[in-house]
Parts: sequence; structure tokens; C-alpha cells
Amino acid sequence: MAIKLTASLPTIVLFVVSAVLSIFLYTQPADSFSWLTPGVMQLIRAGAMLIALYLLFERLFKMELHTKILVAMLLGALAGFVFQNNIVEMKPVGTAFIRLIQMIVVPLVFASLLAGTASLGDIGKMKRIGTKTLVYYLASTAFAITVGLVLANIFQPGSGMSPDVQAKLMENYQKVAHQKLSAAQQTETSPVNTFLNIIPKNPFEALSGASMLQIIFFSIVTGIALTLIPGEKAQPVIDFFDGIFEAMIKIVVQVIKIAPYGVFALIADAVGNFGLEILASLLKYTLVTTAGLLLVTFLYPFVVKLFSGMSPGAFLRGIRDAQLVAFSTSSSGATLPVTMECCEDKLGVSNEICSFVLPLGATVNMDGTALYQGVAAVFIAQVYGVPLDLTAQLTIVLTATLASIGTAAAPGVGILMLVIVLKQVGIPLEGIALILAVDRILDMFRTTVNVTSDATASVIVAATEGQLKKME
Ligand code: ASP
Repeated sequence: MAIKLTASLPTIVLFVVSAVLSIFLYTQPADSFSWLTPGVMQLIRAGAMLIALYLLFERLFKMELHTKILVAMLLGALAGFVFQNNIVEMKPVGTAFIRLIQMIVVPLVFASLLAGTASLGDIGKMKRIGTKTLVYYLASTAFAITVGLVLANIFQPGSGMSPDVQAKLMENYQKVAHQKLSAAQQTETSPVNTFLNIIPKNPFEALSGASMLQIIFFSIVTGIALTLIPGEKAQPVIDFFDGIFEAMIKIVVQVIKIAPYGVFALIADAVGNFGLEILASLLKYTLVTTAGLLLVTFLYPFVVKLFSGMSPGAFLRGIRDAQLVAFSTSSSGATLPVTMECCEDKLGVSNEICSFVLPLGATVNMDGTALYQGVAAVFIAQVYGVPLDLTAQLTIVLTATLASIGTAAAPGVGILMLVIVLKQVGIPLEGIALILAVDRILDMFRTTVNVTSDATASVIVAATEGQLKKME
């Protein structure tokens, strides 16, 4: 993590001035200068903060991108902690960053999958890759949730919670819990419908609504059709989509350069909004979940090593940008373009495998979410004194694995899926009010795991297909 000082004196002075100014302004209430409207005050202090960050990242020191992102995370957490609610107004910078990558997701997946399938020219191979991918996704999800259940059974995070704390959490979060419950009810559908929904009635609607599974289905079918029509007709179409794919990746490479600013704003907002006292009352639950998530995060590199021979260090170095973006955005869907870029350019996974395995993974493979659901279900059951026998725990494994298919890869979705799981085994649904307070922070960790698992799948499938390029 090399950081080198490269600045001249005037730059250092400018940095100190803007940093001190923004710190001073952020410690004042937004209406403290009567001659300025609060809106102008917000602009001035956010501007000063951005200038300080720019000088720090681009002029003062020479740092690699991932170091910048890490520094941005630490500074963001510090700013959120110190300035509390005031810093929340920097959030638009983070939102702009997320939107810039989200903008690329649909065209990137559509173009790369369509061109990838069309150049594959071999349906047998497609089936083989598809089977391997799905087997990995189902197995890893079931494994992750089992880890969650085992940890929760050993450490019993829910037993011994004082009735006072329980009542306070219920009171504070009941309203949000009800909103989540009704949102979960709306998204709930039968398993048959989940599969039927993969076929789009109108592919353009699927594209405009970013329905990932439908887009994947339509691009594969069109890609296969292109292999069946005469080459002179198919080639221009393939070249066209290939060009779009290249352009999208170019955009990702540029957008990721502004990641440190977006990440600073997102983390500052998350921490600024977060009540630390609440964390204390849910400490055991938070620790057990985080420990489980960290445990599996460090298992993936070894699974990769086993199947591909790639060293764990090389794997982690290759995907760290995607992990950092996943952590700060809490959305594996929004991180997808970065994951694809990392797997292809840094890990050497072929475009063909990346464009199939990763978009599918972002939608159906959520190991981190599954693990969290295991712990959360047991935690709520323990608080309410609901006994969970082996059958109930196996039902949790099965339901959570199935529930993860077809659910959007977006912030806070895991808790909606949890509702389905709780319902299956008769745990009181209003119990989600107990865990909402720390959901945002756990979402960051579980999304990182989700993305790491997708990348693992891409390397394993590529290695077993002879499509993993050796990188320097
Ligand atoms: N935020 C997670 C993701 O996008 C889903 C969740 O667990 O809420 O992967």
C-alpha cells in the first residue's frame, strides 16, 4: 500500500485551508450564518470538502486506486462519526457514483452476453457452463447459510437479550418493519411463477425495467439464434454488440476513478445516520454475523486455489476494487460492471465466462445474504423463545437458498427475503424490527461476500473450461 508525498508547498497550503474550512463549516449548524441560505451553506461546505479530498487523492500523495478507496472509507467513517447528520448532505456525490455504474449494467450485460453466446457457437458447451455455474451457486449458498446457522447455534446471539432493549427496538423500528413486511408480501410469488418470470413477455420492457433474469434469458436465446443464421447476417450484429460491450467497459474504467469521492460520501452517510448505542445492544448478533461473513470471505480464495491453482493473494488483489465498491454501495447489481472488469482484466477470466457467470451470479447467488438470514432467523427465534429443531433449520437452508433466486441485487433486499424464511418456520415476522437497526452495516458486509462468491464462480468455471488466462 504505497503512499508517496508528491505535492508542492502551495498545494499543501491549499489543502490545509480547504480541509480546515470544511471541518469548521461542518461543525456549524446549516443555518448558523444568517446571511447565507442553508442551501448555499451546504454547497459551500460540501465544495470545500470535495476540494480537500481532490487535493489529498490527486495532488498531495501518489496512491493506487484501492489505497485511495480505503483511505476514503476511513475518512468517510470518521466524518460520519464526527459530523453526524450534517455530513449526510454529501450523499448526492455517492448517489451520482452509484448511478454512473448502474447506468452501464443493462447495456453491458445485454451486449456482452449476446455477443458472448453468439461467438460460442456450441450449445453443448453452453449447457456445460450453465450446469457448473448453477451447481456452484446452489451449493455455495446452501453452504453459506449452514455456516450462519452453525455459528448462531453455537454462540446464541439472541439468548439473554434484556426485555427493555427488546421493547425499545420494537418501539423504534415497528413502523419500518411494517413497511418491509408489506414490501415482502408484494414481492412474494410461488416457485412456479419465479421460473415463469424468467421468460420476458416483452424484452424491451425487461431491458427498461432492468429485470436481470429476463435480460439474461433473452440475450442467450438471441445469441443462440445468431449462431443458427448465415454468418454474413450474424457477424455485423455480433460486431455491433461487441463494440457496445467494449465501450461500456471503457466507461467502467473511467467511472471507477471517481470511486474514492463516491465511497467517502456513501460511508459518511451510513455512519452519520447510524446510532452507535443501538449497535451496542445488538453487538452479539452483529459480531456473529460479521464473523461468519469474514470467515467465508477468506474461504473463497482457497476454493479458487483448489480448482484453478491461482494463489489466494492474486485472487484477492484482482477483485479488491469490486469488493470495496460492493462494501460501499451495498448493491451487487450496481457493482456488477466493476466485478466484470476485475474478473476479465485482472484475474484473466475469459469474456465468454464473465458475461454469463457474473450477471447470473449477481441475481441468483447471494451467499452473504443467505448466511445473514441463517443468523438472523435463529437470533429472532431465540429472542422470542421459539425452538428450532433440525427439520426447521433444514427448512431454513432450503427456503433461503430458493428465496435468493430471482431477487434483485439491491441494498436491503436481504431483509425482504428473510421474511419469506421466517414465515416458513413460524418465527414471528415482526421480529425483523429487532434487527433493522444494524441492517445497513451488515448489508455492506454481505454484499461484499455476494460479489466475492460470484467472482469465485467465474474463476472456477473458467479454469475447468480452459478459459483462464495466466496474468502477470
Ligand atoms: N445488498 C445485497 C446485494 O445487493 C442484497 C441484500 O442482502 O440485501 O447483494
